[in-house]
Amino acid sequence: MTGLALGDLRKSFDGQPVIRGLDLVVPEGQFCVVVGPSGCGKSTLLRLVAGLETPDSGRIAIGGHDVTDQPPRARRVAMVFQNYALLPHLSVARNIAFGMEIRGEDRARIADKVAETARLLRLEDHLDKKPRQLSGGQRQRVAMGRAIVRDPALFLFDEPLSNLDAQLRGEMRVEIRRLQQRLGRTALYVTHDQVEAMTMADLLVVMNGGRIEQAGQPHDLYDRPASLFVARFIGAPA
Ligand code: ADP
Ligand code: MG
Repeated sequence: MTGLALGDLRKSFDGQPVIRGLDLVVPEGQFCVVVGPSGCGKSTLLRLVAGLETPDSGRIAIGGHDVTDQPPRARRVAMVFQNYALLPHLSVARNIAFGMEIRGEDRARIADKVAETARLLRLEDHLDKKPRQLSGGQRQRVAMGRAIVRDPALFLFDEPLSNLDAQLRGEMRVEIRRLQQRLGRTALYVTHDQVEAMTMADLLVVMNGGRIEQAGQPHDLYDRPASLFVARFIGAPA
């Protein structure tokens, strides 16, 4: 089964091409890291997959279903951002529950789901706190919780660790992979951090100027970079 498939995806802003014909297949359950310099189109790619931008042409399929013409709410995706996007005046529990409350889901079901998610994220002791009372790592876990309760087929991450210090970044890399493997869902993870790219990816995609330079397993890109750009970018000997 295919987790995510992109076919000749293109997007311009004001006549300037930003995504210039992307083809990509991510097998179901795999963790795909897209790495590339600032401005190469990574966030635009995520927004296209989430349905927050409309492509000029090309197709997007999630879990084998073509979603190109579907609105965001009909796509089984959940996005995690670097700034967490938490609601400051709500408790951790209600931040996690927020999406389910909006959809008008049953109260008992929401409570169960929040408790289960808090256990998974080791946030049980923090459910009544406000976001400002949490550490950076805990806030990032709440943001993950908000994504998990949506039960997505595909997780989208936009540089989620870039606001954390180096040690916490290292811990969260491991934590995010642990969660993703446990849930068995496909992930598309965007970063400009070479270490995250090399250590987290099942499938590594190097992007440059709206195109894919090379895609494959991290060690293959390291051993056999297709271009000087790839070698330099992932720090392999050219
Ligand atoms: P990255 O996430 O890799 O840093 P982005 O996808 O954010 O790159 O941006 C790629 C390019 O597209 C940049 O030149 C950016 O200015 C441009 N861009 C992104 N979104 C818009 C928009 N809504 N309107 C106009 N230009 C945009
Ligand atoms: Mg970006």
